[in-house]
Amino acid sequence: MSLEALYQDIIIDHYKNPRGRGLLEFPLGTAFHVNPTCGDEVNLQVAAAADGGLLIGYEGTGCSISQASASVLYELVQGRQVTEAENIRRAFVELMHSQGHGEPDEAVLGDGIAFVGVAKYPARIKCALLPWMAFQDAEIKGGLMLETNSDGE
Ligand code: ZN
Repeated sequence: MSLEALYQDIIIDHYKNPRGRGLLEFPLGTAFHVNPTCGDEVNLQVAAAADGGLLIGYEGTGCSISQASASVLYELVQGRQVTEAENIRRAFVELMHSQGHGEPDEAVLGDGIAFVGVAKYPARIKCALLPWMAFQDAEIKGGLMLETNSDGE
């Protein structure tokens, strides 16, 4: 099996078996983002546990890439501190802007490395980034991150 096929399988697995999908009972911040060019929708919520670890809730509809990306986001940032989650988010955004030449660090991005090939297709990059943009927005709305930290992605 080629690496590309393996990565495709990882994305399809997250699409078919989304991790942690569902909404939070008491969200601090909620952001609903749409990708009109593909018809993807993601509603993403954040809250903080007593130890400061992030709690993530999400729902969405759309293509396999957008929905798998939300599942990967949950897997990567649920329970993390905000600063850790921000490092992961930035690494993912950087990967999506690598035009397919990125060398993603699996220790940081986990199954997120499977999206390296997606970065070769400009039309699909927005699909992959949609939940991550909603995540950042939800953090800002929830007062977990200052808007000045936004890098506009
Ligand atoms: Zn899409």
